[in-house]
Amino acid sequence: MTSLEQSKNKLYENPALYFNISKSADTLYEWKPVKTLGTFLLDVEYIKEDQSFEHYFFHLNKGEYRISYLKESGCTYIIGSKNESPVQLSEAIIEHLKKSFHDIYDIEVILSYSGVNPKAFNGFDAEVNDLMNNIEKYQLIREIRIPCRVCGETFKLTLKKNLVEESEVHPIPVVCNHKGHAVLCYIDRQFHCRSTSKVNFAG
Ligand SMILES: [Zn+2]
Repeated sequence: MTSLEQSKNKLYENPALYFNISKSADTLYEWKPVKTLGTFLLDVEYIKEDQSFEHYFFHLNKGEYRISYLKESGCTYIIGSKNESPVQLSEAIIEHLKKSFHDIYDIEVILSYSGVNPKAFNGFDAEVNDLMNNIEKYQLIREIRIPCRVCGETFKLTLKKNLVEESEVHPIPVVCNHKGHAVLCYIDRQFHCRSTSKVNFAG
């Protein structure tokens, strides 16, 4: 196996620690890998309470792992990931599963006659397990080589495919943190980095 293949496989290792879909305060669906022992209930409760804007991804660093979430139309989609797992992979998983969930289930209709009964969505395990176990096959992300203008190194940046493919404007600007410095990268339609420039951290 080449070193490139090894790094690629590592990218897809354990794509999620858990995944949760909630509607208001109620959990509709929850997934964890079979060997996960921990419980992430506190994370989920905290995020359900959060009144963040809808249609925008948030990422919280929890020390040993990261939580990424999206709120849309009253639903909250939450994924816990290892820190080394790319942020864009977590977003892509949420987007993919959100679409599958709503393609399969008419949530409003189901909730209107059965109330919140998480067992109603047990069948969704098949979708989630297939995605988590064959994540590479779904081709949700791309790795792009970035020549860093700040330090001179070339590094790999992971981007959601749809971020580039569905953008109306190209090249798209992306800011990333490379070894402690901020780099602004411009990515074209062919997933190539056109240019990079140094930007300043502030806060
Ligand atoms: Zn750099």
